[in-house]
Amino acid sequence: MTRVDSFKHKGLRRQMCEEMRRKGITDPLVLKAMEEVPRHWFIDPALDAHAYVDRALKIGCDQTISHPSTVAMQSQLLELKPGMKVLEIGTGSGYQTAILCRMGAKVFSVERQKGLFDQTKRLLGELGYRARCFLGDGYQGLTEVNYGPYDRVIVTCGAPEIPAPLMAQLKVGGIMVIPLGEEEQEMLRITKEGESREEWKVEKFGTYSFVPMLDGRNFS
Ligand code: SAH
Repeated sequence: MTRVDSFKHKGLRRQMCEEMRRKGITDPLVLKAMEEVPRHWFIDPALDAHAYVDRALKIGCDQTISHPSTVAMQSQLLELKPGMKVLEIGTGSGYQTAILCRMGAKVFSVERQKGLFDQTKRLLGELGYRARCFLGDGYQGLTEVNYGPYDRVIVTCGAPEIPAPLMAQLKVGGIMVIPLGEEEQEMLRITKEGESREEWKVEKFGTYSFVPMLDGRNFS
């Protein structure tokens, strides 16, 4: 399938990045990736006109692609450097995954829903992003294959608590960005300064509204 990235799309994307700057995004790596990755390729073509508006959109399986400003903020909070290994929980549309790849990360992404997993793994492959995609329960992190420990962990669904298995798979010195809460979530950045909980530095970055992290049991 040929995908079009028109002058209009590119122009709208530049405007979107200006909006991101106004909303406090300063990391040049994040802004560059967001200017380069065509968000409209990750959504239903019927929603094309909304691709560069700062809002979440439906992506099927009752899930949503996050607001561009949420993707930008989470990416910035990660303090990512090229070459780092990133574990992402909640592949969804693959847009956040593509941004992380464009920022030079080695991305390992876990999705719990088979429909989205199949669709997005194929899309990312077709678009040339070299993320490794896995079907599974992201609460547990990546268990069947061990690519860890990771420099960074990013969770893109609302987690009821800080998942211990994810903290275990994060390197000492590493950072996890996770929206914590059930109804609405507080964005946390956790710096793992040591193995014990007392050595986790927790910073808060405001309230967000994510789809919930789904129960790990009975998934299909
Ligand atoms: N970053 C994605 C966000 C998608 S919404 C995007 O912008 O498109 C959150 C995603 O997390 C959904 O695809 C949902 O199916 C997935 N998810 C929910 N619970 C999960 C779990 N326990 N493990 C892995 N993925 C999960």
